[in-house]
Amino acid sequence: MELSERAHAADQAIEPVTSFFLSLRAMDGQDGVVDLTFGDPHEMPLPGLVTALRDVLEPRGTDWFAYKSSLAPAQEAIAAGLRDELGLPFEPADITMTQGAFGAIALAFRLVADVGDEVVIPAPGWFYAPMLRAADMVPIKASLDPETFDLDVDAVARAITPRTRVVVVNSPANPTGRVYGRDRLAELAAVLEDASARNGRRVWLLSDEPYRRIRFDGIGFTSPAAVYPWTLVDYSYGKVLLAPGQRLGYLALSPSVPDTVRDELRAAMLPLQLALGWGFPDALMQYAVPALETVSIDLDELTRRRDRMVGALADAGYALTVPEGTFYLWGAAPGGDAVGFAAALAERGVYVLPGTVFDRAGHFRISLTATSAMLERALPALVEVGAGLVR
Ligand code: PLP
Repeated sequence: MELSERAHAADQAIEPVTSFFLSLRAMDGQDGVVDLTFGDPHEMPLPGLVTALRDVLEPRGTDWFAYKSSLAPAQEAIAAGLRDELGLPFEPADITMTQGAFGAIALAFRLVADVGDEVVIPAPGWFYAPMLRAADMVPIKASLDPETFDLDVDAVARAITPRTRVVVVNSPANPTGRVYGRDRLAELAAVLEDASARNGRRVWLLSDEPYRRIRFDGIGFTSPAAVYPWTLVDYSYGKVLLAPGQRLGYLALSPSVPDTVRDELRAAMLPLQLALGWGFPDALMQYAVPALETVSIDLDELTRRRDRMVGALADAGYALTVPEGTFYLWGAAPGGDAVGFAAALAERGVYVLPGTVFDRAGHFRISLTATSAMLERALPALVEVGAGLVR
């Protein structure tokens, strides 16, 4: 086989996603199709984003487009933002600029974990497994609570072995929209402290927080960095700006990481990112950071869409997890077969993500980044298919 084992492993690990992508081809060229699959924009970009990018397009010197690693003004704006938002004393040097959360997660795994190390990831959860396989690390799934999808600390404790190096926490969570409370995170911190002592090797926590600023009903947010010192935080601007194609994010070291370790990690970032293929965001995206810190999708409008869909689908008999954050709606597929459910909807021109993509064959996810008009068009099909499949 010409394909490397790594490429093959990554391919296998995302098989449910690729087969779903293939089925999406059916959407091509069809009129009136309603795409509720991914968290992509369906309206024109935010004016604040466009203005910020236009502004930095004008070169201010001969080195405007020179090689750029993490730029100081971006790091300073982000550290100040994190200090405000999380109440933790982040310093600019703790911040490494990356190509979205994808880049930050790839960097984080390689920063602290070795080949063969185990990384505990949430299930249902995002695509950590293929990223780990491609780094020759071993994903170990820890189930979230099957009813509430809250963090199940006992499940994480059971998943930890002497080879565990990292535990990933994703709050607000994709695909469930759950936001984990401080008490639950503190219980997790105690488990990780114990495991580190037992293993004689530190278990790190990676807090994947790209939806941190997308929360409903004024619900609070606790970063795991507030309760566990050995935490790496990753973030992406792709969600809050609803512009995932403009790659911008960061990896931040918790201010509580002990100084000697922090110095070592800070120094390792640049060579590691270079070795990974120049993983820094484009210069223009970095220049725009100070302006972009305050730009956001319209959370009130998102709340209206959430309430409309939750209300209408609950009336139609759907069992849903009411999202506290993110722009997704997670529910049980009527009839229990997410693939059949998604196929029945696709026949009616409505595309949703079957839970197989997240390792949960009985659920589905809808993205509320669709316009209200798209959601209204989808509702009759959702109601009809739901009614047909629930006995
Ligand atoms: N982490 C989670 C939980 C996500 O949902 C996503 C994107 O869908 C990412 C990380 C990656 O974000 P980005 O594409 O902005 O790098």
